Amino acid sequence: MTIAVLSEMPSGAGELSVWPASTTPLPHGGLAVGGVPLTEIADRFDTPAYVLDEGEVRERCRSYRDAFPDADVLYAAKAFLSRAMVRWVQEEGLGLDVCSAGELELAVTAGFPPERIVLHGNAKSPRDLEAALRLGVGRIVIDSPSEIARIAAAVGPDGRQKVMVRVVPGVSAGGHDKIRTGTDDQKFGLSLTDGGAQHAVKRILGQPQLELTGLHCHIGSQITEVKPYLVALRRMVGLMARIRDTYGISLPELDMGGGHGIAYRPGEPVLDITALARRLRTELARGCAAAGLAVPRLAIEPGRAVAGPAAVALYRVLAVKHTGERVFVAVDGGMSDNPRPALYGVRYAPRLIGRAGAGAPCTATVVGRHCEAGDILAADVELPEDVRPGDLLAVPVAGAYQLSMASGYNLVGRPAVIAVHEGAARLLVRRETLEDFRSRDIGD
Ligand SMILES: *Cc1c(COP(=O)(O)O)cnc(C)c1O
Repeated sequence: MTIAVLSEMPSGAGELSVWPASTTPLPHGGLAVGGVPLTEIADRFDTPAYVLDEGEVRERCRSYRDAFPDADVLYAAKAFLSRAMVRWVQEEGLGLDVCSAGELELAVTAGFPPERIVLHGNAKSPRDLEAALRLGVGRIVIDSPSEIARIAAAVGPDGRQKVMVRVVPGVSAGGHDKIRTGTDDQKFGLSLTDGGAQHAVKRILGQPQLELTGLHCHIGSQITEVKPYLVALRRMVGLMARIRDTYGISLPELDMGGGHGIAYRPGEPVLDITALARRLRTELARGCAAAGLAVPRLAIEPGRAVAGPAAVALYRVLAVKHTGERVFVAVDGGMSDNPRPALYGVRYAPRLIGRAGAGAPCTATVVGRHCEAGDILAADVELPEDVRPGDLLAVPVAGAYQLSMASGYNLVGRPAVIAVHEGAARLLVRRETLEDFRSRDIGD
């Protein structure tokens, strides 16, 4: 993975280590991303705005293709999806992982080849399955026993659908309890330990409409160490060997999911993608040789690590309040565009943009404008003491699980998404307006 190390930058450059690699300092406290000054974007497109660096997304896709030349790399669309994102990911040679008819149809109508798409979901709706079969999705990942007969019936007597089984390998990993999905005490997948996965495999093999291509697992998110992936991989290979022993078939595919951790603040640990690739490959070869299995084709599904570091959220300061010991800096967005701090206690490193702050740094809490005391974007961060209404604040690493989780709370409206690339900015997704809310609200 490319890390932004801008050696020509003045002191304090380390603070930009989590920003897109294209980030360059400008005079008077300005910053440009993708060759476009952030102040210019705020003036032209208003705030809050999400600034997505096309080059950074593409470079991250390429780093994955380089690290995993023999594997399928699927971008997990739920991190962030737009038509432009679909095109970039396709042009960079990745596949796509989706988990609803909405994500699937957006991708396919934007021109993504359906056979390179995998459909996930712990509770697939009739509409999800109808869209998957109608559009000819490449794989459906079975997540509960009841799906097996449902999908087989929907495929019809003459059809055949490729499926995988989502296995819970019993590995606990990830940045927060709410994003740990590798153990038996959460809703995803079929258990290895209670035999649920083995039972599902047996039933799928008994359905002529279904072609079992392999096993899938996704152990969690924001994982910064390789080890849990290796433990999971060993268990998955163990299950493949048992399937071969019982049914005489070698499954050709193994999907190890995503969850690759990134740094939200300078100095935080990052999953080393090159090390992950090397050690997964070695472990897979070793495990398969020991079990006498043909080596399956590996797939991975990074979401956060592709989109997260590629976007910056831009806010305007609306109010600054000094209460007792605390300084609250309130901006024009908040939990409706970024629920992650409230959900997972995530920490960010916001930065004043467009003027050099005067005076000593002070410790401030950046809050949103929503009617919840928990609407905190960044607690205990350093900002210039003279931070004031009208200032611009930028929050890096804003590309994943922010806009895709955005809500209509307080009818503030979801922000615009602006792509920057080689000195040009263009609107990808327009700001949600009162007209959008009114047009859906059709009763009286
Ligand atoms: C969420 C998810 C991913 C992507 O996770 P990241 O942490 O964004 O890399 C991949 N696969 C599945 C099945 C998921 O649910």
